Amino acid sequence: MSERNVLPTGPYPIERLDQAAVSTYFGCNTFSWRVMQERLPKEIFKALRKTIKKNERLGGDVAQAVAQAMKDWAIERGATHFTHWFQPMTGLTAEKHDAFIGWDERGGVIEGFSGSQLIQGEPDASSFPSGGLRATFEARGYTAWDPASPAFIMEGPSGKTLCIPTAFIGYHGDALDHKVPLLRSMDYVSKQAEGALRLFGVESGHVIAQCGPEQEYFLIDAQLYQERPDLMLAGRTLQGAKPPKGQELEDHYFGSIKRRILAFMQDAEVELYKLGIPAKTRHNEVAPNQFEIAPIYEPANVAADHNQLLMEVLRTVGERHGLAVLLHEKPFAGINGSGKHNNWSLATEDGQNLLDPGHTPQENLQFLFFLAAVMKGVQRHGDLLRAAIASAGNDHRLGANEAPPAIMSIFLGGELTRIVEAIGRGELADASERQILDLGISKLPLLAKDATDRNRTSPFAFTGNKFEFRAVGASQAIAVPLTVLNAAVGEALGGLTAAVEAEQKSGKELRVAVLAAVRATINETGAVRFDGNNYSPEWPIEADRRGLPHARNTVEALHTWELPRVRDLFVKSGILSKEELEARIHVRHEQYAKTINIEAQLLREIAEQKILPAATRDLSVRAEAIARLKAVGIEPADTMHTVLREQAARVGVAYGRLDGLRAALAEADGNRELHAQTAAFGGPVMAAQLALRESLDAIEEHCNEYYWPLPKYRELLAPMI
Ligand code: ADP
Ligand code: MG
Repeated sequence: MSERNVLPTGPYPIERLDQAAVSTYFGCNTFSWRVMQERLPKEIFKALRKTIKKNERLGGDVAQAVAQAMKDWAIERGATHFTHWFQPMTGLTAEKHDAFIGWDERGGVIEGFSGSQLIQGEPDASSFPSGGLRATFEARGYTAWDPASPAFIMEGPSGKTLCIPTAFIGYHGDALDHKVPLLRSMDYVSKQAEGALRLFGVESGHVIAQCGPEQEYFLIDAQLYQERPDLMLAGRTLQGAKPPKGQELEDHYFGSIKRRILAFMQDAEVELYKLGIPAKTRHNEVAPNQFEIAPIYEPANVAADHNQLLMEVLRTVGERHGLAVLLHEKPFAGINGSGKHNNWSLATEDGQNLLDPGHTPQENLQFLFFLAAVMKGVQRHGDLLRAAIASAGNDHRLGANEAPPAIMSIFLGGELTRIVEAIGRGELADASERQILDLGISKLPLLAKDATDRNRTSPFAFTGNKFEFRAVGASQAIAVPLTVLNAAVGEALGGLTAAVEAEQKSGKELRVAVLAAVRATINETGAVRFDGNNYSPEWPIEADRRGLPHARNTVEALHTWELPRVRDLFVKSGILSKEELEARIHVRHEQYAKTINIEAQLLREIAEQKILPAATRDLSVRAEAIARLKAVGIEPADTMHTVLREQAARVGVAYGRLDGLRAALAEADGNRELHAQTAAFGGPVMAAQLALRESLDAIEEHCNEYYWPLPKYRELLAPMI
């Protein structure tokens, strides 16, 4: 771990953190390297660092000493409990708390925490998805401390808990979480990059995949949230007519932040800083009540942990402010959804960003090499990147004219494209100084910085010194797309390195050899580069002509995971075994089917028990009004009849569609085979759900608001005061 991640601890406690300089308390709730250095005996500290650097198992004495220091530190800060904190394949985090207390010899209570409790935990893992990796007779898995992530204290409403980041592993060592594959992929891409750098005479040591995830979210009033079972249980509204004012005025993006929201953001940031999460940017997003928070980038595994924690902190701080935080990809139909832009790059241990164009032709050659590797990785495994972010939630967002389409392409920007294309045409064949100068390659840094004309429509954009993968969904565990990205680029780096070595063997000097390999890659990857408008209706047609894969939804995308090419990528790189990969595929299918099932059951219930009774009541009140008017000799207006007749017809249609949904659910439920089940839920059930929703939305538009049983979009999206 680089020094950059050494978390400082300031004087603590400080009464009003919101009035203190952040640097004085940043990371005060983390058991950081600095704290460890202060509190651990010198030899233990050294041994711990060595173990981590070499990725070895922690010895018993070291674990015991660290546990002792960690416990003392946590108890001094008021922690009463500890938990292993892990990331099962649900995409969420899991924790089971144990108190430190135990009996002493005389029957009194003392606090204890042993080395073995630190390094290994045994949650009853049988209830976490394993995709069949754990047959029931060995339903246990264990959690193992990941010393590369600092332990931290989570503050609850009336107490504190020491959280120990762990990997979750089956008894045969299989990965049961998202963290283990991410760490393996970071090792893999590091080794490949180190090999590549050796070509350029750079002895880099470890290369670190880094990520800065920009998180979008919605805030709505907690009381309204509690009146919407769909928001509470499915995370999104399953019904809701379009409001009179949505985002058409485009008056929210970067608008001034309302006081109630700002209070929430500031409180959340204090909590994040205490946890050592470097929250940096906050602003209003495009949709009403939509916002973004972005931290400073960190090593990908730390960024993944921190993003999970950030989502948790937003939720809990929201509660304190009477706000519900919506992290779903599409909480409201017809209103922009939420994504999580994953900014990604590779850097050496001493901080050289390998995607930063350099200052010399030599450095720029190296930059072009790494750029080519990213292009190759995305070109070869674009469908897998798309599959990595496929989920029931993200299906509502991708390709819906507000988010990148489900076709992977790369944006390079005008200047870089010009250079790349010139190299592709062979204009640098000899790579003489003259050619390099003529092409402007010696001036790349300037060009690239100017060339970051932001194309906001591309799913995978080069932005000066990093790539921004924009198709990731707001609620997703970033560990998964990061793992795929590391794997794909790692593989391409290996391939390019081998190609350069082959050229060198045939007697070419380095510069010429590199340019030959880069040129070949540029020519192979032309189809995946696209700088135009990815939202335009012409692009999918053009992409199809180029032969780019286009999985329109999760059902289609899930097949990608089963391709031999994909299996080879994971197995050969050591990131996932064949069995681990199969288990993950199983879990993805299950999660998809279960999500749609929950949504469909919920909508059925809401329609049957809330909306349709309200609508029929409205009908009967209207009918009664007409009858009563007639009874006193007043002829009701024709429109009153028409409105009633039309609304009765809508209710009739809705009942029919409700039956349709019920039938589709029963049919889907009967499917035991994985693919058939996924197809049934994604096909007929989803279609029936949408049809019913359409009816209910139409009913809402004409129903007496007084009887309407759910908060309406207009209320949910009203500006906060
Ligand atoms: P945008 O204009 O796209 O919102 P920002 O400048 O706000 O971009 O940065 C977005 C994110 O990218 C931040 O989290 C930032 O820390 C991260 N980032 C910056 N440089 C790198 C890098 N080299 N590698 C990974 N992430 C980076
Ligand atoms: Mg961005």
